[in-house]
Amino acid sequence: MSEGRVTLTLGVAGACQHPEGMVLRHAPWRAASFPAMYALIEHPREGLTLYDTGYAEAFLRETSPFPARLYRWLTPVTLGPRTSAAAQLRARGVDPREVRRVVLSHFHADHIAGARDFTEARFVASREAYASVSAGSAFAQLVRGFLPGLLPDDFLARVDFIEARDFNAQGVGEFHRGFDLFGDRSVTLIGLPGHAAGQLGALIQGAEGRRHLLVADAAWTTASFKDNRPSHPLAGLIMDAPSQARTTLAGLHRLSQADPALDIIPSHCRFRLSACA
Ligand SMILES: [Zn+2]
Repeated sequence: MSEGRVTLTLGVAGACQHPEGMVLRHAPWRAASFPAMYALIEHPREGLTLYDTGYAEAFLRETSPFPARLYRWLTPVTLGPRTSAAAQLRARGVDPREVRRVVLSHFHADHIAGARDFTEARFVASREAYASVSAGSAFAQLVRGFLPGLLPDDFLARVDFIEARDFNAQGVGEFHRGFDLFGDRSVTLIGLPGHAAGQLGALIQGAEGRRHLLVADAAWTTASFKDNRPSHPLAGLIMDAPSQARTTLAGLHRLSQADPALDIIPSHCRFRLSACA
């Protein structure tokens, strides 16, 4: 099969406030706004796929009672009316029911909050990622940044789990192998472990001829991977494996230097996403 291409559109669904020094080592310790990205991928044959969802109204509902309310206190969220990914799609004339697949890079709330809005979609995610956050008590889940109520009740019947052992195609740079989502190399999921177990990035062959690499939270900002600047050690508290996260970030740094034409896109870089908000 010849190589396919897809149209990639980035969007921002809500933002949260974090001390900047937590996200980028040696940055000032003042609060900064971090947009929550989603990406719409349009494939000529496979229709619409979403990569992550950003925030959605469900996040406000799920974090209303205690103890989940702590989540909102730690990372105050800005989400205006009609700023969820589903609302933005509707505004451009796309029925969210047309979205056939939602790839969840990992299960932190700012990546899955809109999952219930895509009622007809299959989900694509790593079982390792899901297992690592969904085990234990509700409080243990909360500490890992997981709010199970954000996922639809029939999530397990609608998810296709993809693990590193399923990778069937060439990846990119040191991320040698990946999963060819549509069988035409247009979208290749790659493993970016560390920030979250089983975190999935996506290598995209853009219709305009450019290659993009969605890296979710493997790099929090563009400066993170360009300068190989990891987050503050305190941020390691919410990470699955901080040393692995540093290895992944260093791999992205080398990739950005070896392949400057590749458009590496973190999920929370306000500079990269300023035009999408
Ligand atoms: Zn995350």
